[in-house]
Amino acid sequence: MTDGNIATKKEVGLSKEEQEVLDEIERENVDFVRLQFTDITGTVKNVSIPAHQVEKAFDEGIWFDGSSIEGFARIQESDMRLDPDPSTFTVLPWRSDGDTASARLICDVVNTDGTPFDGGPRQVLKRVLSKAREMGYTVSIGPEPEFFLFEKDEEGKATTVPHDSGGYFDLAPKDMASDVRREVIFTLEQMGFEIEASHHEVADGQHEINFKYDDALSAADNIATFRAVVRAVAEQNGIHATFMPKPIAEINGSGMHAHISLFDEDGNTFADDEDEFNLSETAYKFMGGVLEHAPAFTAITNPTINSYKRLIPGYEAPVYIAWSDVNRSALIRVPDAAGTSSRFEIRSPDPSCNPYLALAVIIEAGLDGIENDIDPGTPVRDDIYEFDEEKREEHGITLLPGRLMDALDALEADEVVCEALGDHVTEKFIEAKQSEYDEYKTYVSGWEKAKYLEKF
Ligand code: GLU
Ligand code: MG
Repeated sequence: MTDGNIATKKEVGLSKEEQEVLDEIERENVDFVRLQFTDITGTVKNVSIPAHQVEKAFDEGIWFDGSSIEGFARIQESDMRLDPDPSTFTVLPWRSDGDTASARLICDVVNTDGTPFDGGPRQVLKRVLSKAREMGYTVSIGPEPEFFLFEKDEEGKATTVPHDSGGYFDLAPKDMASDVRREVIFTLEQMGFEIEASHHEVADGQHEINFKYDDALSAADNIATFRAVVRAVAEQNGIHATFMPKPIAEINGSGMHAHISLFDEDGNTFADDEDEFNLSETAYKFMGGVLEHAPAFTAITNPTINSYKRLIPGYEAPVYIAWSDVNRSALIRVPDAAGTSSRFEIRSPDPSCNPYLALAVIIEAGLDGIENDIDPGTPVRDDIYEFDEEKREEHGITLLPGRLMDALDALEADEVVCEALGDHVTEKFIEAKQSEYDEYKTYVSGWEKAKYLEKF
């Protein structure tokens, strides 16, 4: 982080919202504020500043070296500025001891000349949302990130031993995991989250906490925050939380289903009481766009090698590009809801994604469906896991990419999705993922050894 001598960002002092942040810093006795943003892979980055610097941060921004951030700048153009968004201010309850507190502000990344940095994931989402706004819509997203809680070993390293399975010799079994889940919820509520439900998921050690839907930008901020809170609370309790999509073979992986609807000034544009599924023409077209661009946006919504071990038949994760009102094997499911709640659920994303980029590509795909009247076809009611190839063809059902490399090829071939990301992010993302794949390619796995070592 450098603290350059620059012209002030604003001529006119602090906004009302910024002043309120300063007042709260005073009130809560905040000593340090973390300025947060995410790199291209969705990892949260922090620059910590003493609270008395926050006014300056609002005024001038805080400079940092962009070349040290994955997918950002090259060395020769590395100076960048963080521009804190005052609406994201929150005290971090697990960093507060009653006397002093730490807080955070989520930031936009800005170039030296004050223009928004094209490679900032939050900026990518903002760009897509402003397009939606021009078309008359605001976008609501209800995300459902799933995660596992695992034991750590004696050295403090994460294992894949579920935290709540109760060991054989456990004389006093205690569901520590539900205590941790309760603590996560409590922490989130202190940070202003509205929690709707929380439950144990299908697999041992697997959990889901649902927070209330929000506008897409806040939803993405919330996902980033949520992952940080779950990890921090687990860590404090000596266990490991992971959002890895498929930590254990042969049981359910972790998804991050996204419930989506578009609002205009008259309310939910996805609602139509006359329709069998309570969905409007706009909703169907949006759905058509999502289905059409799904192969391409999968690289972003399912960005790791491991993501594709989740997208296989039999574990409630989608494999087929289709929609349904009943079927969890389809990419899109329409829940039984009407009016303000009319919406559909996109089931493919997983929680290893960059939430800003993932929501940006899904929304852009849907808007393209509206612009080009894309027909989503008819719902599939039967269990598609049971379909053979012929039956799939009969229904016109194609498959999601089966491997990261296939998803990257589909991404490169899709102008709409690439445009949503912009040249900078598209290029850097593909570069980063290509090198991840090259690394993986050379690795000899335990499966291969078990299969071939003694056979040949
Ligand atoms: N864990 C499943 C997945 O990988 C989803 C289970 C559910 O429907 O909540 O998407
Ligand atoms: Mg679930």
